[in-house]
Amino acid sequence: MKYISTRGGISPVSFSKAVMMGLADDGGLLLPETIPTLSARELAELAPLDYPELAVRIMSLFIDDIPPDDLRSIIHRSYQTFDTPVVTPLVELDRFLVLELFHGPTLAFKDVALQFLGNLFEYLLKREGQHLNIIGATSGDTGSAAIHGVRGKENVAIFILHPHGRTSRVQELQMTTVLDDNVHNLAVTGTFDDCQEIVKALFADLEFKERHRLGAVNSINWARILAQIVYYFSAWFQARARGVDGRIVFSVPTGNFGDIFAGHLARRMGLPCGPLILGTNENNILTRLVEHGDYSVGDVVPTVSPSMDIQVASNLERYVYFLVECDPARVREKFAALRETKRMPFSPGELERIREDFRSASVGRAETLATIAAVHRSTGYLLDPHTAVGVAAARICAKGEETPICLATAHPAKFGDVVEEAIGSAPPLPPSVAALEGLSTRCRILPPDREKIRDYVMKHAIG
Ligand SMILES: *Cc1c(COP(=O)(O)O)cnc(C)c1O
Repeated sequence: MKYISTRGGISPVSFSKAVMMGLADDGGLLLPETIPTLSARELAELAPLDYPELAVRIMSLFIDDIPPDDLRSIIHRSYQTFDTPVVTPLVELDRFLVLELFHGPTLAFKDVALQFLGNLFEYLLKREGQHLNIIGATSGDTGSAAIHGVRGKENVAIFILHPHGRTSRVQELQMTTVLDDNVHNLAVTGTFDDCQEIVKALFADLEFKERHRLGAVNSINWARILAQIVYYFSAWFQARARGVDGRIVFSVPTGNFGDIFAGHLARRMGLPCGPLILGTNENNILTRLVEHGDYSVGDVVPTVSPSMDIQVASNLERYVYFLVECDPARVREKFAALRETKRMPFSPGELERIREDFRSASVGRAETLATIAAVHRSTGYLLDPHTAVGVAAARICAKGEETPICLATAHPAKFGDVVEEAIGSAPPLPPSVAALEGLSTRCRILPPDREKIRDYVMKHAIG
């Protein structure tokens, strides 16, 4: 299986090369040349497998340059860090199902991909005799999941910038209590935007980037999407095993379009489910796209589901590539228009295709809080605010005869303040979170000054 760029500017590369490249060298995103499909019989064969074995089978369809035993070992190690052998358990509530994706070390769904990516990086770097210095900015979730993905790994160091005092307490502790030598938490006395600007500037300095072999772990890495395809299959098998018949539809709280794109691929591979339900918060550019074909970029507004506070959804480019019949020239055209006019045009025919693939609803603050409260009242189950957006979107978009599976992307304790506002009391802390208070922490506080941060990275980079 070879990988190509959505912009058409690179010759096809292997899976390993695609993982190490992250963003394609021509500025596009990497995609497999073809999407493998599974027949009904092949699907039935996967049904009895446990999560790691299911992951081995599905990921193997996309990976042909890692020996099977090595891949199996990487995958098994990645999911041993989860607090349940089911990895992504399905929970049945009143009229819908919840797929709990938060059983990894940082209690958010990003662990499913980043636990795998950390082990994969370590393996590939060792094989190639290389090293990597990962740099990223975070408003909370991605940074902590990335740190836990690579902590203690060989040949890789990670530098994560977060805005000092502006992440939640749980997120901060999940980052700063990691004391491994290869982990560097930089608390920047500025905003998340300051952090992002500094990281961008470091990557833009090509000489610096090459010399220190800087790498990123954001959601444009193909391996992250690949790891996320697996749980759609797992959820579907779990639902069927419980006797859920009828059509299954997945509801996905969406920001960068990575999680839902993995679901789209699962569907294209032959998983029999309905159109995906795309939930957004007040930052509803993707809902406007699905509803009216209007993809115009506004300003990001802060919401109670901060991990979805995004305007330009970077993974949308992968979907657009298929939408324009895999024609890189048309992808380039669309993204040039976006850059110039802040708006990406879609034809009526394209809009029709989009609406065959997705349904969408935007869910505001009041409705998010009301959904948390209502579900808690009727079932005793606590939703985090991101998950609540997906549950509310499913209520709006699912048809009577369908069974929605709502993806639970974070544990409620991770966003305890919002949950408390909704139900009047704070959610109980899971033991792993409660244990963080009082642990020693390591974190360097630095001003939002590019030179100072550059110096710090230079002094501590490996290689
Ligand atoms: C990152 C994140 C999302 C959004 O996922 P995308 O892949 O960016 O669409 C939703 N919920 C939580 C809790 C997240 O951390």
